[in-house]
Amino acid sequence: MDLIVARNRTDLVKARGQGSVALVPTMGALHEGHRSLIREARTRADQVVVSIFVNPLQFSPNEDFSRYPRTFDADLEACRDEGVDVVFAPTADDMYPPDRQVSVQSGEMGTIVEGAVRPGHFDGVLTVVLKLFNLVQPDVAIFGQKDAQQLAMIRRMVADLDLPIDIVGAPTVREPDGLALSSRNRYLSADERQVALALSTALRAGAAESVPSKIRAAALSVLEAAAPRLALDYLVLVDPATFTEVYELFQGEAVLAVAAKVGTTRLIDNVVLTLRPA
Ligand code: AMP
Repeated sequence: MDLIVARNRTDLVKARGQGSVALVPTMGALHEGHRSLIREARTRADQVVVSIFVNPLQFSPNEDFSRYPRTFDADLEACRDEGVDVVFAPTADDMYPPDRQVSVQSGEMGTIVEGAVRPGHFDGVLTVVLKLFNLVQPDVAIFGQKDAQQLAMIRRMVADLDLPIDIVGAPTVREPDGLALSSRNRYLSADERQVALALSTALRAGAAESVPSKIRAAALSVLEAAAPRLALDYLVLVDPATFTEVYELFQGEAVLAVAAKVGTTRLIDNVVLTLRPA
């Protein structure tokens, strides 16, 4: 079957098959990371829907909404290649009529770590994701571990609002040298790209240690060596479910997460670690 492009709820209803549906929400500019989520979706449901929507609500006025890469034709080609059934690409006017009032509040967890640097960001993310869930009505939705706090917040929303959707986290896809794939990597000059490698290098350095203070220190020393060309927003070692900092004797899974600006490009990355008793 050929790829269906749906613009609104009516199109989506028409395109819906008999079986289960997996949704992969994206902002387009699709790369191999997105494609790995699509392949994961394929294994989980009969029909795969990819949404492509650059969500104005999750960008603050000083962020890169207007210059965010938009490559719709290439995105459709990638979706065709991956055997996607439906691309849902609504307009901002349809998603957000001017008289809208109600939105999702991400709570305390939306104000820490990434949320502290980007106030309102997670409210915008959760609002659009809830709308996408209601429009597409998927059985399962796939999100990248690359945006670890986003994944945690979506799991929280699904639990707190009793949404009947399975949330699947998929591993981060990287370039051979370690740089995590991101739609924003295309903003980097060759020089900046070299500097940006400090993020993944720092995470690897941290991952080689086993207690929180040493993990943080090892990662931080790599990031400090890249300053001032790399401007650090945060480096944290947190509980993957709550995004609160883990204490020194913590055991179990933890996320070492970093955000930094290289030139004008803001990058995030993280790695999941298992902390065991010494
Ligand atoms: P975005 O288009 O950046 O909003 O991302 C859409 C989805 O792709 C999100 O669930 C991201 O976490 C995921 N994603 C982005 N980059 C990667 C990557 N390098 N590997 C795996 N998933 C990714």
